[in-house]
Amino acid sequence: MSEQKKANPSLPVLLGVMGDPIAHSKSPAMHNAALQAAGVNGMYMPLHVQPEQLEAAIRGIVALGYRGVNVTIPHKEQVMQYLDVIDESARLIGAVNTIVNEEGKLTGYNTDGIGYVRSLKEEAVPELAGKRIAVLGAGGAARGVIYALALEKPERISILNRTADRAVALASDLRAHGLGDITGGGMEEAAAVLASADIVINTTAAGMHPHIDDVPVDPALIRAGAAVSDLIYNPLETRLLREARQRGCTVHGGLGMFIYQGAVAFEHWLGIPAPVETMRRAVLDSF
Ligand code: NAP
Repeated sequence: MSEQKKANPSLPVLLGVMGDPIAHSKSPAMHNAALQAAGVNGMYMPLHVQPEQLEAAIRGIVALGYRGVNVTIPHKEQVMQYLDVIDESARLIGAVNTIVNEEGKLTGYNTDGIGYVRSLKEEAVPELAGKRIAVLGAGGAARGVIYALALEKPERISILNRTADRAVALASDLRAHGLGDITGGGMEEAAAVLASADIVINTTAAGMHPHIDDVPVDPALIRAGAAVSDLIYNPLETRLLREARQRGCTVHGGLGMFIYQGAVAFEHWLGIPAPVETMRRAVLDSF
């Protein structure tokens, strides 16, 4: 990327989110509320960028003096080739959702998994070290979440997926990076794995609107007293969470992941703590 002069402090801090589609993103409402609450003169724009315009749009960050952007579907992987530096965790996850412009040098981060774990710890399970964790699903979201969970030193992470091969491959890839005791298998292992899991995390799309009656696994297999977390936030409480709560489990919904991935991005751009409760309120108000 070309050289750019230092940001002028009398101009607003420019931020945004690039995606296709983008009109329904809740990030602008969340981040504009955060900027205002933090007393920062800035604005966060929805930026509709089609795949063939991605490179030009990324150059535009520097040309227009944006402090940074979020990147969402379908650009999270493709964008990596246009950046100067990729943070180690984003490289391992294979996707970037946050870009910081440091005087023309663009660095890519992935705040999804780290944001998820911060949300899980602050909202449901303060200590993850030594825990036995079952992760349902082995897609893109699972990868970032499992990476961030592994940094917390749980006793083990068992990945279960409808397509067992994907869970086995993801586990062996993450193990190869020295991330601890991570195994993969199919849903036929669910009864044995869930009987001893302290935390069960749904990263699959099962139960997401409009298929709200779907569950990724029979909730009766989860032991009472376990914590159950779902990445889905539409609906705010999935059937899996509702039935787990009725069986005495601690439950944790996916809205926190969205809020905290934004909070971590905000902190990368501005270097100040994100006003998390203001962000949560803004998102809830925008539903
Ligand atoms: P993805 O890469 O397409 O992976 C989808 C995963 O879900 C795969 O493991 C797939 O299994 C499984 N799956 C899909 N439908 C299923 C069903 N009916 N029954 C059982 N398994 C099913 O998607 P992703 O990007 O990882 O996203 C997954 C979920 O995370 C979505 O619900 C998304 O909304 C949520 N998410 C939330 C946030 C947040 O901020 N809260 C952020 C990112 C994602 P197979 O491998 O067998 O196909």
